[in-house]
Amino acid sequence: MSQRIRHPNFSVNQDSVFSHNKTRRDFLRYIKIGGLGVAGVTTTGLSLLQPTLAQSVKRQDEWRWCNKCQVLAFAGNASLGSCPAGGVHNHKDSGNYILIYDTPPRPKQQDNWRWCNKCQALAYAGFASLGACPAGGVHNHNDSGNYTLIYDRPTLPGQQDNWRWCNKCQVLAFAGFASFGACPAGGVHNHNSSGNYTLEYL
Ligand SMILES: [Zn+2]
Ligand SMILES: [Zn+2]
Ligand SMILES: [Zn+2]
Repeated sequence: MSQRIRHPNFSVNQDSVFSHNKTRRDFLRYIKIGGLGVAGVTTTGLSLLQPTLAQSVKRQDEWRWCNKCQVLAFAGNASLGSCPAGGVHNHKDSGNYILIYDTPPRPKQQDNWRWCNKCQALAYAGFASLGACPAGGVHNHNDSGNYTLIYDRPTLPGQQDNWRWCNKCQVLAFAGFASFGACPAGGVHNHNSSGNYTLEYL
């Protein structure tokens, strides 16, 4: 009997988080994420409040920080995924992060971030090497959505920056602690040449 896996781009959480009676709040979040700026919310935001536009931004929650390896990993599946620090990821004390997916990137946004179906981590897939995976071999992005991240922008309430790309294993990891976390490519994650990514959380 095969196990049914609920992979990220089929998450049911999106609807529960952004229900129909929260359309305006939903849209204001969209404005913040889309980079139009909070100053434009009152006027520009409402004038652009079209159901079709609000619905065109796809979001998904249940992305969590691992307190052992620092990566952002999807926590909505039965398996939490192999952790390069040993065992599986541990999401204790993590916020509930929200990612945009399958939505055209706006200025200061970067797409082609993908979910690994083996280790559950979010990793950049724009290079020839997909990066070492703690579950063995390299990350596998089959069945992943195309995730978009904000980078190098001032943070707003409900957002957290200092998330960085590891140039060895390609994952997104939090860089705000003294330890950068174990890297499946050896040693700890290396964030040289990374942008400063910002995540929104609930
Ligand atoms: Zn981990
Ligand atoms: Zn992986
Ligand atoms: Zn790494």
